[in-house]
Amino acid sequence: MGISRRHFIKIAGVSALCGLAAPAGYELLAPGAVDAAEEVVNPKRLVGKHWGMVIDTRLFHGEEDVAPLVEACHRAHNVPHIPTKQNIKWIWGTGFEHAFPFKGSEFLKEDMEERPIVVMCNHCENPPCVRVCPTQATFKRAEDGIVMMDFHRCIGCRFCMAACPYGSRSFNFSDPRRWFQNGPPNPDFPTRTKGVVEKCNFCAERLAVGKNPACVEAAKPGQMIFGDLADPHSAIRKALRENYTIRRKSYLGTRPSVYYIV
Ligand code: SF4
Repeated sequence: MGISRRHFIKIAGVSALCGLAAPAGYELLAPGAVDAAEEVVNPKRLVGKHWGMVIDTRLFHGEEDVAPLVEACHRAHNVPHIPTKQNIKWIWGTGFEHAFPFKGSEFLKEDMEERPIVVMCNHCENPPCVRVCPTQATFKRAEDGIVMMDFHRCIGCRFCMAACPYGSRSFNFSDPRRWFQNGPPNPDFPTRTKGVVEKCNFCAERLAVGKNPACVEAAKPGQMIFGDLADPHSAIRKALRENYTIRRKSYLGTRPSVYYIV
């Protein structure tokens, strides 16, 4: 996880004082929780000042294009499939009219209406979820713009869910661990407990070891472009220069970091 033993012990000690179980997880690295100077970073880590995503909706034709991304993400993050309305979702496909409620019209191109739109947390530059969180369980990382969750700080008030205009967050109404018959699929990623909110983290734990997000890795070439929006020479900036893109509910001023080629 890219943290030294001393660093881990320090985190564990703080957590023990607070009466918390503390597996070694990146999500514990909340602002001010540790001395950054002591962190041991992986030299292969991917570095960006403002991570973002471009999704080319023209390359998504049906559920068969979405399912591998969902499977890869949920497996990487121990997101169980709960066959009720209380399902937990980090990434999923929805209809154009749901993703972009004010962009459609009765004259929308037929194929566009039928395209599944892949949605997730937008890692907004101006995230209302962060503003309303009373415990800083959700916070925006200054170094790369990812909106993170510290599961141990979450008190389950769900203010963030009410504030997010995209429905990007899920609440664990019951213990999610009970849905894993053979244990969590990824033992390196923390599982959550009942009463905790969760959402996409742009695979911060994978970026920290030099890997792209799991969904991007599972996608077909060109379907998803992940990169540093702050770097004018990056592939994501090239895609934005060369294509017409839209963002979800941009009129709300949240400034999503996920763009869609339509
Ligand atoms: Fe927060 Fe929702 Fe924006 Fe994600 S999409 S940063 S959960 S407001």
